[in-house]
Amino acid sequence: TEFISVSELANLMDVSFAEVISKCMSLGIMVSINQRLDAEVIELVASEFGFDVEFINMEKQAEMEEEDDVDNEEDLSPRSPIVTIMGHVDHGKTSLLDYIRSANVVAGEAGGITQHIGAYQVSLPNGKEITFLDTPGHEAFTAMRARGAKVTDIAVIVVAADDAVMPQTREAISHAQAAGVPMIFAVNKIDKDGANPQKIYEQLSQMNILVEEWGGKFQSQEIAAKKGLNIDKLLEKILLEAELLDLKANPNREGTGTIIEASLDKGRGYVATLLVENGTLRAGDLVVSGQHYGRVKAMFNERNKREDAAGPSAPAVILGLNGAPQAGEKFKVYADEAEAKEIANRRAQILREQGMRAKKHITLDEIGRRL
Ligand code: GDP
Ligand code: MG
Repeated sequence: TEFISVSELANLMDVSFAEVISKCMSLGIMVSINQRLDAEVIELVASEFGFDVEFINMEKQAEMEEEDDVDNEEDLSPRSPIVTIMGHVDHGKTSLLDYIRSANVVAGEAGGITQHIGAYQVSLPNGKEITFLDTPGHEAFTAMRARGAKVTDIAVIVVAADDAVMPQTREAISHAQAAGVPMIFAVNKIDKDGANPQKIYEQLSQMNILVEEWGGKFQSQEIAAKKGLNIDKLLEKILLEAELLDLKANPNREGTGTIIEASLDKGRGYVATLLVENGTLRAGDLVVSGQHYGRVKAMFNERNKREDAAGPSAPAVILGLNGAPQAGEKFKVYADEAEAKEIANRRAQILREQGMRAKKHITLDEIGRRL
């Protein structure tokens, strides 16, 4: 197999192609700038420049990482919606999340939610559930989207009725639109003097967003987050939107989903908050996420209660990974420890090499592509 050209090799090593050509000549190999080199020559020349070369089989890697088959329709059951609350600073996102969280604590567990884990699930009086992503707003959403994660089903855009549609309101709207996530507008602080929801609807209409009151398709709800006014109505609208989306998952398969946040805890090791999107994650499962892996040593819900399993749309905190995956990284359960380890390690290796030409190491695809 011929791999890369002389100029590409020079590029990888950060030297000029003339240096590569003259090095080849001194080794008795005559090459031109666009000539492709075989593995033996690459190794030889690279070693002259102090590099070692590694050949990775990307097709095998891709095969190992291949997505599982899609679920059969008959295996799917309804799952609860995953909601992100976005909006301009001080318009009331935290107040809304806090109110919903404290007002919907499961009986007997009052005050039980002390953990801030980046996501929580509330049970409503009608038995339905909603999962809220409680990440610091736009950054996390953007970070996750940048990693290709689409974890949110519905975006609630909070706009303060005593203020206006602001830059971060617009940003939130364009994020949701770009991600193809339906929006519900929560017009907040209607208890305040000077609150003028109509002005907000008008400003939204100038962005081609017509709320239902204005004859459009977007649901909106006037609320006062701090006092908890009309929050029940907002939650009903979220459930209505979710019904239209017909969200489904297969709880009877191995868990897959997305990391919400992860960090190193002094006493407990690596702690990761994740969201199960399909299947069921169980304590003891072998999880791979990005370049990290490990067996789920223990699993907790947002009330810090130990759990054995987390199904579709459930957030969970897990212990046992050998590192902290980045927010937005996917996770997957593997049956075979050697396979899990190999996948994680190969990813780690590729990542290491991507940004580290200085480390004098080159990775090439075994079938000839440059990585
Ligand atoms: P965030 O930056 O979007 O998370 O906004 P916060 O939830 O921190 O709220 C910003 C400020 O607005 C705080 O002082 C809240 O107490 C206040 N606030 C939030 N919701 C309401 C509301 O419904 N009515 C009134 N009067 N104040 C509110
Ligand atoms: Mg806040």
